[in-house]
Amino acid sequence: MQNIDNYDFKGKRAFVRVDFNVPLDDNFNITDDTRIRAALPTLKKILADGGRLIIASHLGRPKKNPDPKFSLKPILAHVSQLLGVEVKFAADCANAQNEIAALKDGEAILLENLRFYAEEEGKPRGLAEDVSDEEKAAAKKEMKAAQKEFTKTLASYADCYVNDAFGTAHRAHASTALIADYFPNDKMFGYLMGKEVSAVKAVMADPKRPFTAIMGGSKVSSKIDIIENLLQKVDNLIIAGGMTYTFTKALGGKIGNSICEDDKLELALDIIEKAKENNVNLVLADDAKIADSFSNDANTQFVAVGEIPDGWEGLDIGAKTEAKFAEVIRNSKTILWNGPTGVFEFENFTHGSRTVAEAIVEATKNGAYSLIGGGDSVACINKFGFADAVSYVSTGGGALLEAIEGKVLPGIAAIQG
Ligand code: AMP
Repeated sequence: MQNIDNYDFKGKRAFVRVDFNVPLDDNFNITDDTRIRAALPTLKKILADGGRLIIASHLGRPKKNPDPKFSLKPILAHVSQLLGVEVKFAADCANAQNEIAALKDGEAILLENLRFYAEEEGKPRGLAEDVSDEEKAAAKKEMKAAQKEFTKTLASYADCYVNDAFGTAHRAHASTALIADYFPNDKMFGYLMGKEVSAVKAVMADPKRPFTAIMGGSKVSSKIDIIENLLQKVDNLIIAGGMTYTFTKALGGKIGNSICEDDKLELALDIIEKAKENNVNLVLADDAKIADSFSNDANTQFVAVGEIPDGWEGLDIGAKTEAKFAEVIRNSKTILWNGPTGVFEFENFTHGSRTVAEAIVEATKNGAYSLIGGGDSVACINKFGFADAVSYVSTGGGALLEAIEGKVLPGIAAIQG
């Protein structure tokens, strides 16, 4: 693989896979351009070198080609403005040869949504429910062949391939992984992707100790693979958020109406056991801020986590737990935070998440490496205004979670391999 910093793009056609899957309002205005801004360093470097920039992305989940609701055209003007050049547009991403041939050094073109073609994802679309297994297998085979052709077409546009789309790195799609094979000596990570890969490495491959992971969020079931993998890596595992009550109930506590997965009680006990076996300090909540309804305006009180009366539910951690979590975090040298400690969407139940965030900021100031990842903890850090006070805030939801689960991400392997 190449290093983008050392690569001279002068006169080269660069196919850059970005994640411009930005939220749009009903009038197709971008409501949050973070993802576009995140790719700018890579795109600007290529243009500054005098490269010919081909920008490729998906947007949403279109089911047909074309599907105007998911067109990338509405974001073109904003991309041009941010890049400082007038970006051209190829209305058919699989038939853009002429437009690309007309590109001059230092010019850029945005391809229409790659997912207008089912070949991008490589999954047959529109199969009737009642088709036989043989028909399904035939459709899959046909799609794989079509995907190869589609990938070849995309690859034919360019002299080099840059992947800067960490958000889709966990997908083995045409433009995120398969295309890399066509550029054995001219493939590389973009700057964003490089930062994400380094962040994952800092916590998962080579963490300074003690290493603490804070796992919050609503359900054990959605975090179990991550927890299992982390139990082999961390020194401290803090369990927070709605998961708390599945653990509390499993240990015989009373949880009132708190969120709980009754079919995961055994699993919670298994996790407690495994933590002991692995010498992991499993840190559970001691007290909770409870509410008499699932609402910001509910009546509240603080109680021991296993003594929640009927009719009440735990919506955040209590003060004792905050202090306990904060101390563990402050004494850590590597920190991974995924998931809030409570229902942070309600102003009255953000205190626990804020305390965790503040402890992470303090530890970071004292030299710890901190990675914030997964949708809601990123929302928390941004809400509290601490994004610049931690080591890294990941842009990849699903991709980051899969990396923490210990999976090899196809988008990364395709470049490194
Ligand atoms: P996740 O997507 O699994 O990270 O979960 C994030 C969601 O968990 C957020 O929407 C929180 O409101 C929710 N959550 C956190 N703590 C609780 C709790 N004690 N009860 C119900 N939901 C919670």
